[in-house]
Amino acid sequence: MSGNTARRAAITAATNYKHEGAPLDYKESDAASLYGTNVFGLSTMKSQLPKEIFKSVKKTIDSGTPLDPKVADVVAAALKAWALAKGATHYAHVFYPLTGLSAEKHDSFLSPDGEGGAITEFSGKTLTQGEPDASSFPNGGIRATSEARGYTAWDVTSPAYILESANGSTLCIPTAFVSWTGEALDKKTPLLRSGQALNTHAQRILKLFGHEKPATVVSYAGAEQEYFLIDKHFFYSRPDLLNAGRALFGAKPPKGQEFEDHYFGSIPERVIGFMMETERELFKLGIPVKTRHNEVAPGQFEVAPVFESANLASDHQQTIMVTLKRIAEKHDLTCLLHEKPFAGVNGSGKHVNFSFGNATQGNLLDPGETPHENAQFLVFCGAVIRAVHKYAGILRAVIATASNDHRLGANEAPPAIISIFLGEQLTDVFEQIKSGGAKSSKMKSSLEIGVDSLPKLPRDAGDRNRTSPFAFTGNRFEFRAVGSSQSIGDPLVALNTIIAESLDAVATKLEAGLAGGKKLNAVIQEVLGEIITQHGAVCFDGNGYTAEWHAEAEKRGLPNYKTAVDALPVLQQKDVIALFDKYKVLSPRELHGRYETYLEQYNKSVNVEANLTAKIAKTTILPAAVHYQSKLAENAIAVKAAGLTPDTTVLKQVTDLIGKLQAGLAGLETAVGHHGASDALGEAKHFGGTVLPAMLKVREAADGLEGVVDDALWPLPTFQEILFIK
Ligand code: ADP
Ligand code: MG
Repeated sequence: MSGNTARRAAITAATNYKHEGAPLDYKESDAASLYGTNVFGLSTMKSQLPKEIFKSVKKTIDSGTPLDPKVADVVAAALKAWALAKGATHYAHVFYPLTGLSAEKHDSFLSPDGEGGAITEFSGKTLTQGEPDASSFPNGGIRATSEARGYTAWDVTSPAYILESANGSTLCIPTAFVSWTGEALDKKTPLLRSGQALNTHAQRILKLFGHEKPATVVSYAGAEQEYFLIDKHFFYSRPDLLNAGRALFGAKPPKGQEFEDHYFGSIPERVIGFMMETERELFKLGIPVKTRHNEVAPGQFEVAPVFESANLASDHQQTIMVTLKRIAEKHDLTCLLHEKPFAGVNGSGKHVNFSFGNATQGNLLDPGETPHENAQFLVFCGAVIRAVHKYAGILRAVIATASNDHRLGANEAPPAIISIFLGEQLTDVFEQIKSGGAKSSKMKSSLEIGVDSLPKLPRDAGDRNRTSPFAFTGNRFEFRAVGSSQSIGDPLVALNTIIAESLDAVATKLEAGLAGGKKLNAVIQEVLGEIITQHGAVCFDGNGYTAEWHAEAEKRGLPNYKTAVDALPVLQQKDVIALFDKYKVLSPRELHGRYETYLEQYNKSVNVEANLTAKIAKTTILPAAVHYQSKLAENAIAVKAAGLTPDTTVLKQVTDLIGKLQAGLAGLETAVGHHGASDALGEAKHFGGTVLPAMLKVREAADGLEGVVDDALWPLPTFQEILFIK
């Protein structure tokens, strides 16, 4: 009995897949009639709440004023009625712990009435506050196991919604998750705090530009989610995919993505069925998914919603990930969100498109139509350049995960060096500012333009650059180094905070200049000139994949934290601790807790992968290889017995690779068994520096065997099968 039964069964099942149940509805969904039907959004609230109550809630949403507890009771009653009418039986406070996943605690609406019956109950207090067990979620030492109390607090700015499932419907209430001591245990709390910091300092700048009463400034995010879809039978027959989310073994397929025939190619029917159902679900939840297409690698796709305020976009992004996985299962598919499920094939990222603005001035990163707006734009854009240069390490640290390490720096994803792509036009404008004032423009050769009358900038100020980790794309920056499985919370917190600090610094200089009797435009020229002189080194429009750039970046003094283990300690640098503390985003204790948590996650994930590598190599790959070796040896004996000279080339090859596999396994076991480090960072250095390379040695031998062992004996579905059979 050969060991490839599971592989054969998976291939057969995947090849013979037929959709079961009701026929697929291939009509494009009517977004307008579906959209937001399961959301207790503004329009629903307006129709369900007394006028005064609605006004009060809206005020809280728009300007962040605290919610009156009396209002909460009325909202809770209306919310309950709405949810029950929609068939909800339970409610859940949804929160976003440091695992990066969404967590929910479900409670029934039913309460015993004391007379043997039950009533439905949902008060203002239940709406606004919940109490999950805080010690069960990672916190990096902020909470001891015995100090379990944690609270979830209703986030009024992210609307409640109803999640339908086969087992019934649940009213979901997005919440912030804090400890009994008020410390943030989640990704949302610092995001809300950092949004406030950004607003405070953006307001100062807007006022200098003469805007009276600007509306609250918020950041906007649009995240492009890349993912792989594979038949679920392959997923379940690969313990590495199942337990680690990525293939720890597997030779590069003979046909990969070299023909680039998958990118934007026609989408397979089964996948279209999946995409349409996913979109319908997301539409109902008021998540504005808009873009869907094939990605570069075979089996790889992308979905992107229209951008929203950062907090909402972040919550919605979490729901998108959960929904992709859930709906994939219904189609006998598995959605892989890992950054690099298949070595040798493109990985997945999540480009976070980022801008900020408000209801009165619009997008503040839009170059605009008039010179006056351009000056304002250049100040905000300059502040971003300064922030990214000054705090590149933070941006690197918030995308530092074990899984993203497999993608960053490869020839398909941005390098680990954080730089900004500005595009030709903007680069030119900033160059001119640097040399004393913008006097000409690339688009109109003879335009007179001091800062008094800056060039009219086109919306698309330049070409695209796929290699840049942080690219200006017309009216926003695209943070391309974010990983596909990540919550976008941390990257957004980082961006809000570093830009808040920059706006603070710029506003202080502008205010001082004005107080000293200078003209606004003169101070702007001064401040922008200073920014581009001191921080222009972060701007780079060339090819980020090249070795020359790495050398050049080093000359420019740009940090290059190659791995997560190199990058995470940035979170404990003095200036970084001070920054998050000063803008009241994360206290030193909270930041330290995160640092510890992320290191622990790194260690756990490499540890699991190392154990899996050893197990699969020993119990699955080695037996297949030995089996083949015996067959070859038997054959050699038989050939010899027949009086001929056997050709033992393959036998030698297999024997040699088996030797390498076993040597690799011995090395890996030694590496994993080592427990020398006394702290999480020491352990992470060991996992990254010793265990990962030891795993790779095992893999090299195993992948070599995949290339010689009789295909009829090979136990694991190959990349070719996994990626192309659908
Ligand atoms: P690409 O061509 O880079 O693949 P997509 O159309 O897939 O672009 O995604 C672009 C994303 O950027 C969308 O989510 C879109 O809504 C978002 N976006 C557009 N304008 C802004 C903006 N001003 N701020 C933030 N995000 C934006
Ligand atoms: Mg896209």
